[in-house]
Amino acid sequence: MIIYDSHIAAELLSQGQLVGIPTETVYGLAANALNAEAVVKIFEAKKRPYFDPLIVHIADVDQMDRFACDIHDKARRLAQMFWPGPLTIVLPRQKIIPDIVTSGLDSVGLRVPNHAITLELLRMLDFPLAAPSANPFGYISPTTAGHVQDQLDGKVSAVLDGGPCAVGVESTIVHCSPNGQITLLRQGGIPLEMIQHCVGDVDVQLHSSSNPKAPGMLASHYAPRTKLQIGSIDELLRSVADLNVAYLSFQTEFDDHPGIVLSPNGDLSEAARNLFAAMRELDQKQYDLILTELMPDVGVGRAINDRLLRAASYG
Ligand code: AMP
Ligand code: MG
Repeated sequence: MIIYDSHIAAELLSQGQLVGIPTETVYGLAANALNAEAVVKIFEAKKRPYFDPLIVHIADVDQMDRFACDIHDKARRLAQMFWPGPLTIVLPRQKIIPDIVTSGLDSVGLRVPNHAITLELLRMLDFPLAAPSANPFGYISPTTAGHVQDQLDGKVSAVLDGGPCAVGVESTIVHCSPNGQITLLRQGGIPLEMIQHCVGDVDVQLHSSSNPKAPGMLASHYAPRTKLQIGSIDELLRSVADLNVAYLSFQTEFDDHPGIVLSPNGDLSEAARNLFAAMRELDQKQYDLILTELMPDVGVGRAINDRLLRAASYG
């Protein structure tokens, strides 16, 4: 059921039910983060492994201390600078956060999402929201309420419709240790360059399924069912002439082939915004193969490339 009223969402969440919520990154599958029984339903609905911790969404910077401790000044600076916004900060957790949310880790990922309706909802509630992306585990993340409805119908009590997501890729995740060491765990909506500008040195520890700091960073993720191949689209199109293929390009249109251009003007933010919906649209058309290319590896282009590489990975 698609709803537009955050009061209804608040009521359902207070009863321990699951609600799809809009954020600026992707749609989330939300539950009361302080209610372990409600949070279990998230893992069941998504078929998400229990070792993959959930991000906790809070209403404002002031709530940080309720859910995290040993917060270094650098983490506060990042929060002041980028919240509300697509940055998750992993910090030592307060005991009030149930184990299931953090997969037993003694840290918790916190974020204030930048979306008017969801901020209104969070301010109404007296608990924070645990919310991973509202899609079956491993599949493409949803960027409209309709995507959530298509994939999780029957598993979610309602989807709060806040329009298409403005950023379109997940949050950047940084870990901040009590001594102020900052580690980038996932590329996302806030570019690495901006984090460095705010706090100086940043360690980078990306994509490792064995990295205990970011257990959910599996090689294959964000994946369509149709095989995705990355390279020079022009060359790939010539090499697979006998197959029924479509392309997914950054700026270039390829005549005589079906496909989607992410941003005709070469705007990486626009490309990010369109990425998941485009992958989903092509995935529904039964092509043998989707051919795509990497974006310039700067700013949010890094997050797009990370998602493309993982979508193409069959590991
Ligand atoms: P998402 O699937 O977009 O909700 O993001 C969840 C990801 O955040 C997980 O897969 C982890 O990589 C990361 N994460 C969340 N909480 C923690 C935590 N306490 N420690 C480390 N990484 C975390
Ligand atoms: Mg996800």
